[in-house]
Amino acid sequence: MRTIYQIDGAEPDVTFRQSCYGQVLVRPYDLIKAKRDGKALSPEGIRDFIAGYTQGSIPDYQMAAMCMAIYFRGLSSLELGAWTRAMLESGEVLDLSDIPGSKVDKHSTGGVGDKVSLCLAPMAAACGAVVPMISGRGLGHTGGTLDKLESIPGFRVDLTISEYRRMLREVGACLIGQTATLAPADKKLYALRDVTATVESIPLIASSIMSKKLAEGIDALVLDVKVGAGAFMKTAEDARALARTMMEIGALMNRQVTAFLTDMEQPLGCAVGNALEVAEAVAVLRGSAPADLTEVSLALTAEMLALAGRAANEEEARQMLQQSIQSGAALAKLKQIVQWQGGDPASIDDVSRLPRSRSRLLVPSTASGFVTRIDAEAVGIAAMLIGAGRERVDSQIDPAVGLVLLRKVGERVAVGEPLAEIHYNNEERLEAARALILQAFRVGLVAPSPRRLVLERLK
Ligand code: URA
Repeated sequence: MRTIYQIDGAEPDVTFRQSCYGQVLVRPYDLIKAKRDGKALSPEGIRDFIAGYTQGSIPDYQMAAMCMAIYFRGLSSLELGAWTRAMLESGEVLDLSDIPGSKVDKHSTGGVGDKVSLCLAPMAAACGAVVPMISGRGLGHTGGTLDKLESIPGFRVDLTISEYRRMLREVGACLIGQTATLAPADKKLYALRDVTATVESIPLIASSIMSKKLAEGIDALVLDVKVGAGAFMKTAEDARALARTMMEIGALMNRQVTAFLTDMEQPLGCAVGNALEVAEAVAVLRGSAPADLTEVSLALTAEMLALAGRAANEEEARQMLQQSIQSGAALAKLKQIVQWQGGDPASIDDVSRLPRSRSRLLVPSTASGFVTRIDAEAVGIAAMLIGAGRERVDSQIDPAVGLVLLRKVGERVAVGEPLAEIHYNNEERLEAARALILQAFRVGLVAPSPRRLVLERLK
């Protein structure tokens, strides 16, 4: 079989046969046209298209056109599997089968105040699961696990693959950043989609996420698809479609995948900002964190234990997790992870050793009543404005800054009482952040009905 690509738009030099692209000379142009016209792409065509793009023989403009065609036409199940496999096989696929135990990870589609990975990995590892976690950085209003971890003095997220393997074997968890060798097609493709208005395509998002996760060498995966104002997916319908598509990829690749839809109408927990979030994740492991953060962390970690075969059911998993908190085993596991990754474990025992801002400002309420809404996206943008998040991929972040919500939805507040506290080092955009936080809060006379945190579990 031979597939030759010509980059320009000239007519193909052999007859183009729609039904067996891989058997004939097929140009990228023909594949783009086929997808544009709603025809199915063959697995070979997809494989060669992605390989050509990764190696540079297919230019950005043709991949951009293909992504736009997929945006409008979607991918069939067969195409989705082939697209994900091609992305996965564009780089190294880790084989962790020599490491004993079931390897299970969690992926969240991102939210504001979502520090669940920081407490979930040590809790799951303390209960016997093996957690190979490759995470990303924050962009825009959502934070990233790597930035949070790097606020722990000395913490390294750039471990080599052999260090990663050693930690999985000896510690049971390791949290590192994406390496250049894992799913390189996704790195290039995501940057292109970002500037060509093709991010918001469910098959492209699902294949992007799953190719990176499958490259980690996992056996099973728990997905946390956030829904609401602060999330990528604003409606349960879209979140469900994304979750189902990722689960479909998992099934095609023989991996166990469970998905949860969880609420992101308001930030998760109270802390938003890197070191502040580490401190709050530590509080989960001490049993003293806000109830919503604790509940989402326990629900997702319990599912990981069940998928890893460490617990027979959710109830047993939750008991094991509670035990790991009460005995101090989960906290000790976090300290061990921190120490192995070059960080200062004393900053976990005493979170006042984490970076701290020089100044703080309270944001008082201008009304009395019940907090009825906290717009998570606005809170995330306020945190970004003062330096806790990145406006652009190359922005520098300040690990010490952020904000702490002093009221959550459903709580009472009186005029002049604080809604939030801003931790800042620079006054430049402080006023804009303060105004945004104030706007993010709605205060009404009637207490809102409690919202469910875990909206759905898809299996
Ligand atoms: N996150 C990813 O990793 N990929 C996408 O396409 C969107 C969000």
